[in-house]
Amino acid sequence: MGQCNMTKGYIHSFQSMGTLDGPGVRFLVFMQGCPLRCGYCHNPDTWHRNTYTYCESPEQVFDRIRKYKQYFGENGGVTVSGGEALLQPVFVKELFALCKKHGIHTCLDTSGCIINENVLDLLTLTDMVLLDIKFTDKRLYELYTKADMDIVMDFLSILEKRNIRTWVRHVLVPECNDSKEQLLRLKVLLAGYTYIEKVEFLPFRKICEEKYQTLHLEFPFAKFREGNQKDVERANAVFAS
Ligand code: SF4
Repeated sequence: MGQCNMTKGYIHSFQSMGTLDGPGVRFLVFMQGCPLRCGYCHNPDTWHRNTYTYCESPEQVFDRIRKYKQYFGENGGVTVSGGEALLQPVFVKELFALCKKHGIHTCLDTSGCIINENVLDLLTLTDMVLLDIKFTDKRLYELYTKADMDIVMDFLSILEKRNIRTWVRHVLVPECNDSKEQLLRLKVLLAGYTYIEKVEFLPFRKICEEKYQTLHLEFPFAKFREGNQKDVERANAVFAS
């Protein structure tokens, strides 16, 4: 704990053989620090940057990654997630530069809530993005994440202009953001973006409640029921209609 050198990354954790965050088998880097406060966040322990677990240089993190290169195959690679990876764009860019030098596919898992020169630079080395679009209404977006949805939509436009392969993710919170009207609005919002390869609906879960208790935080979405596979199927059907 304490002050991490600015040339290094503040990191929450690593996962060596992930299969859920991007194509193929992936090495996952979970960055520490997030400016959003999503009501359904599973990882409130990633919010504050100074509670990091690791403080490492891009080279140190790449040394962890390179051991798994043989498992990545044609589709796999590295996914940097969070927290919010865009809070540390210089570090992630240097890490991605090392990955690209060694022929490793790079993916960002992000809310798309930060745009600046360093983020734009980072995108030059990003093969694909998993973009969380959390709500489809500007008012609800701000209410439940404390962030500005316009920036996220601008970020999506930048991905399109730069021809960056994109998967959109949307957590379905029953009776909060999963009405037919809201799902159709998402469809309209995403229409015309040719680099979006798929839209993935994920059910809201409460497995994080214990983390909130440990951190002495109120879990804002405790009042909503958990989502399930049926909710996902219904959303897929509405979206496909
Ligand atoms: S962007 Fe992710 S890490 Fe940040 S508050 Fe939202 S769900 Fe949590």
